[in-house]
Amino acid sequence: MFTQTPAGFLYYKECESLLLIDQGIALLPISAPVLGRMDTVYPVVLWDEHNAVLVDTGYPGQLSQLRDALESVGVPHDKITRILVTHQDIDHIGNLQAWMEGSQVPIEVASHALEKPYIEGERRLLKFTDEAIASIDRMPESVPEAFRNGLKRLMLHPPKAPVKRVVAGGERLPWCGGLVAIDTPGHTPGHISLYHEPSRTLLAGDALVVLDGRLQGPDPATTLDLEMAHASIARFASFPIERVVCYHGGLFRDNVMERLAQLGSA
Ligand SMILES: [Zn+2]
Repeated sequence: MFTQTPAGFLYYKECESLLLIDQGIALLPISAPVLGRMDTVYPVVLWDEHNAVLVDTGYPGQLSQLRDALESVGVPHDKITRILVTHQDIDHIGNLQAWMEGSQVPIEVASHALEKPYIEGERRLLKFTDEAIASIDRMPESVPEAFRNGLKRLMLHPPKAPVKRVVAGGERLPWCGGLVAIDTPGHTPGHISLYHEPSRTLLAGDALVVLDGRLQGPDPATTLDLEMAHASIARFASFPIERVVCYHGGLFRDNVMERLAQLGSA
């Protein structure tokens, strides 16, 4: 299933588990209870003989799960030198600060310029509105006070980290065999998706979701500008995509280009 490379990384061949998808790319599914149900998200690790890059970081409190998931695909966590954040949402930046604080090696955080002030804690996260914070007080009596207070604290003081590298749509990052940033605004204003050239994999972030095994457009409940998010799908057409990884729902690989064309014209 895998072989040791000179760099000491384990390279996996395509695996039916749908988790380890190709040379130098693997999904890192991690789960957390969110509003009473288990929610699984799919950060991704990319690597080559020089570096390993983590794409998104999970909900707050999932640091050890994230590290365990990395170890399980054969990437030691201290090989991570870069963290790419597709956008500012809490389930994507959740362990960013904890990762930086616990890392023995310097980490370069990268995001789109429009997301940077939010990730750096200069501005309140766009989805943590006054209304969202006020709604905590309307939770049922059965929700413990300590939980409410914790949630409020998190919304007012989410994890943060300096963004050292600003990434623009169309930019090709020479990391892990080549990674192209694609502007996909809508879910948030500076949302980016990534195309990994060696494995022909689209990391869609939250621009698309996989729901019941099917690739779908953006989630209306969490997308700030749905019209813009739908328009962004057309940008995927110029890449020869064989597989899509959605942060919510994981891997999709059935007639990908055809499905993307359907979604882009819908
Ligand atoms: Zn998300």
